[in-house]
Amino acid sequence: MLRTPNFSRSIIRRLSSNGFNFALNDTQREYQELARKFAREDVMPIAAQYDRSGEFPWPVFKKAWSLGLTTSVIPESLGGLGLNTFDDCLITEELAYGCAGVQLTIFGAKLGQLPVIISGNESQQKKYLGRLLEEPLTTAYAVTEPGAGSDVSGVKTSAVKKGDEWILNGQKQWITNGGVANWYYVLARTDPDPKAPTGKAFTGFIVERDWPGVTPGKKEINMGQRASNTASITFEDVRVPKENVLMGEGAGFKVSMMFFDKSRPHVAAAAVGLAQRCLDEASKYATERKTFGVPIAGHQAVAFMLADMAIGIEPARLAWMKSAWLADNGINNTYMASIAKCLAGDVANKCASDAVQIFGGNGFNSEYPVEKLMRDAKIFQIYEGTAQIQRIVVSRHIIKEAMSNK
Ligand SMILES: Cc1cc2nc3c(=O)[nH]c(=O)nc-3n(C[C@H](O)[C@H](O)[C@H](O)COP(=O)(O)OP(=O)(O)OC[C@H]3O[C@@H](n4cnc5c(N)ncnc54)[C@H](O)[C@@H]3O)c2cc1C
Repeated sequence: MLRTPNFSRSIIRRLSSNGFNFALNDTQREYQELARKFAREDVMPIAAQYDRSGEFPWPVFKKAWSLGLTTSVIPESLGGLGLNTFDDCLITEELAYGCAGVQLTIFGAKLGQLPVIISGNESQQKKYLGRLLEEPLTTAYAVTEPGAGSDVSGVKTSAVKKGDEWILNGQKQWITNGGVANWYYVLARTDPDPKAPTGKAFTGFIVERDWPGVTPGKKEINMGQRASNTASITFEDVRVPKENVLMGEGAGFKVSMMFFDKSRPHVAAAAVGLAQRCLDEASKYATERKTFGVPIAGHQAVAFMLADMAIGIEPARLAWMKSAWLADNGINNTYMASIAKCLAGDVANKCASDAVQIFGGNGFNSEYPVEKLMRDAKIFQIYEGTAQIQRIVVSRHIIKEAMSNK
């Protein structure tokens, strides 16, 4: 299996002194091994079952929680592992190799955590992140609406200030963990003036599932990543205390975008995990299945499909690594996170399609793993900003640079 190479300590020391290296340190290798073992032993055996039933895999989620995997990014000062983006993405890649849907249930627990880590004050972090360390609970990031997906500025959910509270009304759609989360990060419009600048018109709130007026919808039946829960959420005159505003009135759009800088490297890492699984399944099959008296890997047309998979996977992995490294070093990674997410999503889909091709008729059948891999891959080009939106981010950056160099 192709993986980040395990270099010896002396090589790591030598490479580090050069200021650039591709080696993981001992701790990173430990996290990677832990996640790999968990993916092989606890996720892969149950993946097909949860894909079929569409149930939320609570037993696996609870075990992941007991290992610290669902709360790994919560700061050590609060009791979490305090992992940075890079180290946590290593875990995500391994989990997605096992099952992208189950991976999404585990990474999904962090979807609400990230805005609170990025922008929450001490008491918000203690209360809402602390709760997740006490019990195996999950969270959600509720931004998309029936009329606003790519265009976040079209969000219509509104919050109106009334004394010490905000009154929240509206509907969110396609929310990962919408039906199972204990609390949500919710983006709402707080300035009703249609001419208000986007950067000031929205506010981010922490909203509890159990509050009166909060109604999650039924679980959506999706094409892939079916172990994950996707649901709409309706808010009807929900009273949100002012203490639950994140970063201040009008800061919601900023918080929602800062979230993507942390989350997109994860989505890219998950897509790489799935792509790697496609390559491993396809290369194993290609060396076993024979046609015309030879294993199909002996036909150049098949061997080149395997080569093309690796040619996509290796740079996609480096791209998530660079985007995570930038985030961890306090360097703006918006451009690189979009490149990583876009590239990895496209690579995952190409690898899944080619893996099905290599399996021939068997690839089209649900008894074989690649059919599920192809269904699971598609969403990587849609959620967390579609492939088109990532290209918009990247091209805007290039054009801005070109203009500033004139
Ligand atoms: C399984 C699943 C889980 C999700 N989880 C979450 C979640 O946890 N939280 C959350 O808030 N949202 C979530 N989403 C929503 C997801 O982020 C949106 O579906 C996505 O951003 C696209 O928005 P849309 O569906 O409204 O498509 P639209 O915005 O309507 O886009 C439709 C098509 O038009 C293209 N398009 C749109 N605008 C442009 C443009 N300017 N230029 C070129 N092409 C364009 C898009 O790329 C796409 O191909 C989830 C969605 C799914 C399916």
